[in-house]
Amino acid sequence: MMIKDNLHTIQKTIPEHVTLVAVSKTKPASDIQEAYDAGQRVFGENKIQEMVGKYEELPKDIEWHMIGHLQRNKVKYMAHFVDLIHGVDSLKTLIEINKQAQKHSRVINCLLQAKIAKEESKFGLSFTEIESILNSPEIKTLENIKIVGLMGMSTFTNNEEQVTQEFESLYEFHKKIKESHTHLTILSMGMSGDYELAITKGSTMVRIGSSIFGVRNYNA
Ligand SMILES: *Cc1c(COP(=O)(O)O)cnc(C)c1O
Repeated sequence: MMIKDNLHTIQKTIPEHVTLVAVSKTKPASDIQEAYDAGQRVFGENKIQEMVGKYEELPKDIEWHMIGHLQRNKVKYMAHFVDLIHGVDSLKTLIEINKQAQKHSRVINCLLQAKIAKEESKFGLSFTEIESILNSPEIKTLENIKIVGLMGMSTFTNNEEQVTQEFESLYEFHKKIKESHTHLTILSMGMSGDYELAITKGSTMVRIGSSIFGVRNYNA
C-alpha cells in the first residue's frame, strides 16, 4: 500500500513530458510487483545480475533500465532485454554493447554519462569527451546501439546552489549538442533528493528510488 501511495504522490509532481524511472535496486521483486500493480512500468537497477533475476521473475512488459556503472564483461547477460543503459562512459563500452546487441538482432538505447559532480567517486565523461565520442568515425559503424541522450548525477550535498549549477551546466551542454545530434532527446537527471530541482532545470527523465520504495538497507 505504501509504495502505491508514494508512487501516486510523486507522479502528481512530475509533468507529462518527464519519464519516471522507479529505482528498485536492493528491493525484492514483491516491491516491484506492487509498483507494477499501481501502473508503473519503467524500473531501474544498478547491478546487472540483480536486474536479470528480476527480469526473469516479473511481468515481461516491464521496461528495464540499467542505471549503474557498467562492467563490460557482464553486458552480455542483459543484452536480450535491457531497454535503456544510462551509465555509458566510454567508447569501449559502446562497442561491447553493440556487439552483444547484434547477437540478439537488437538496437540498444544508451545514454552517455556526463561527470557534473565534484566528487571523485562519481563516474562519467567530460563534455569534451562526449563530443569526441559522438563525432568519432567509429560511432557510425555501431548499428546496434542508439545514443538517445545524456545522464548526470549531481554532487551529494545540501548546497542547492551547487546542485543547481551542475544541472544547469548539463542542460546547457545537452541543448547545444542536440543541435547537431538531434536524436539525443533524453536528459536523465534527478533522484529522490533533487528531482524537482532537476525538472525545473530541464530534466526529461528522473530516477527515483528511496522516495518510492523507502530507504535501502545498504548503500548500493
Ligand atoms: C540509486 C540511484 C538512484 C536513486 O536514488 P534515490 O536517492 O534512492 O532516489 C538514481 N540514480 C542512480 C544512478 C542511482 O544509483
